[in-house]
This record gives sequence, structure tokens and C-alpha cells, in this order.
Amino acid sequence: MSLAGKTAVVTGSNSGIGLGVAHELARAGADVVINSFTNRDEDHALAAEIAAEHGVSVRYIQADMSDAAACRALIEQAGVCDILVNNAGIQYVAAIEEFPTDKWNAIIAINMSSAFHTTAAALPLMRAKGWGRIVNVASAHGLTASPYKSAYVAAKHGVVGLSKVTALETAGAGITCNAVCPGYVLTPLVEAQIPDQMKKHGMDRETVIKQVMLERQPSRQFATTAQIGGTVAFLCSPAADQITGTTLSVDGGWTAM
Ligand code: NAD
Repeated sequence: MSLAGKTAVVTGSNSGIGLGVAHELARAGADVVINSFTNRDEDHALAAEIAAEHGVSVRYIQADMSDAAACRALIEQAGVCDILVNNAGIQYVAAIEEFPTDKWNAIIAINMSSAFHTTAAALPLMRAKGWGRIVNVASAHGLTASPYKSAYVAAKHGVVGLSKVTALETAGAGITCNAVCPGYVLTPLVEAQIPDQMKKHGMDRETVIKQVMLERQPSRQFATTAQIGGTVAFLCSPAADQITGTTLSVDGGWTAM
């Protein structure tokens, strides 16, 4: 499969899953725009590194996905967007009664509303070419729930719903939209949850990973960022031309339970 000649915009891609997706799309030959809210030398250096590794063009564009105008400006600045991967996301864990309003608002904005704004900006570019792929990185939490993750679960269920609506509005236009639903992937977002879980359960790192974090993931193995990237690349391939409006779980069996 070759994505040569296509340009992909991947939100939240200077780390974790987004970075894995950027690598896999670049490996398949796509030019890539990587993004986060920072504007550091290392962000631009990372773009140069991916470009050198895969022999494609990679640009870093700063845009804060909590800001509607910035989401739309990201696509405008990219200029071309054949493949849009909405991946930026954050997490916060607390009971509903204690959940801070600002954390709720930030999670809904970054994890869900950003996908609406980038999609709205990208669709005219895709329609003009008669080809486009939108892949929203949702989560097993887009299909099922866990306590203390109200904003995250609400946002990810929202992203799954948005993916279905986008698919219906673009059906037959050469554009597809799907949601990838990872289970646990060992990234900085998940790494940050480990110390709290160790403290809460009085367990060491390995035990908390196997018995608490991967408790609902029957394989008892993390998915990798490259596997999520490979799944996104598959959804951009001709084999996936008729796959639209659905979810693809990469969760070691979590949602089969
Ligand atoms: P991560 O913390 O490694 O990466 C998150 C990315 O989003 C980073 O590049 C960060 O800079 C970016 N980001 C955060 N706030 C932003 C903002 N305001 N504007 C622009 N970019 C911003 O986390 P990750 O685990 O790679 O998560 C990536 C996506 O995958 C998220 O949507 C997350 O919900 C989803 N996901 C992760 C897991 C997992 O187990 N790691 C499982 C299911 C779904």
C-alpha cells in the first residue's frame, strides 16, 4: 500500500499514539503534518527526524486543540489535508462530585470538539479532491465505561457518534470516517496514571500494570503505538474504501468481555 502523494494531518502527535501514527503514515509514503500546543525547537526537530527516517516531507504546526479557531487554523495552515487523524487527548480521573469544571471543559474541548472543528475545516479540501480519510482516535472508553473517567468516557462516546455522522454525510463522496478504539497503550498519558494506581492499591509497578490497568484487557498486554498507527494506515488503504462509520477496536479483547 502506498500513500505517496497524500498529506496527513495528525493532531497531538509529538508524543505517544499520534507520533506512532505519524511514523506509520510516513512509512507508507504520506507527507505528514504533526501538531501539538507547544512550539519548541524539539517539536520541529522531531518533524525533521520523521522526514529523514521515511524520506517524506514532515512539518510541525503549533495549534492548541482546546481552541476552536486554532483547530480550524491548523487545517488552513496545512493547506492540504487528504488524511485527518484526530488524536489529541488528555485524561483526568476523579469522582463526578469532585470533578473540576475546568478539567471537564478541557477534556470535552480537546478530546471531542477539536475533531468536529478540524473535520469541518478539512471536508471542503477532501470533497474538492473526491478523496479523503478521517480517522478519529477514540478509545475502548468510546464503547464502554469506567468509573471516575466521566469527561473522558463522555468525550470518547461523542467521538464515536461524530464519526458515524461524518461517515453518513460523506458516504459516496470518496471520503470515509472511522474511529479506532485502543485499549491500553503504554504512552506518557498512561504512564502518568501508574504512580497514583501504585499508591492507591499498595502495589509495585509490574503488579499494578498486570492486575489493575490490564485487568480488563484479556491479552494482559499493552497495544503498541505502531499497532495503532498500522491500523490507521490500513483504514487509509484501498482495502478500506467501503469501511466507514464504524469502530475498529485494538484492545486485546477488552470489548469482547
Ligand atoms: P500522550 O499524552 O502521549 O499524547 C497526547 C498528545 O496530545 C500529545 O502529543 C500532546 O502534546 C497532545 N495534546 C494534548 N493537549 C493538546 C492540545 N491542547 N492541543 C494539541 N495537542 C495536545 O497520550 P496518548 O496515550 O498517546 O493519547 C493519544 C490519544 O489516544 C488520546 O486521544 C487518548 O485519549 C487516546 N487513547 C489512548 C490510550 C492509551 O492507553 N494510551 C487508549 C485509548 C485511547
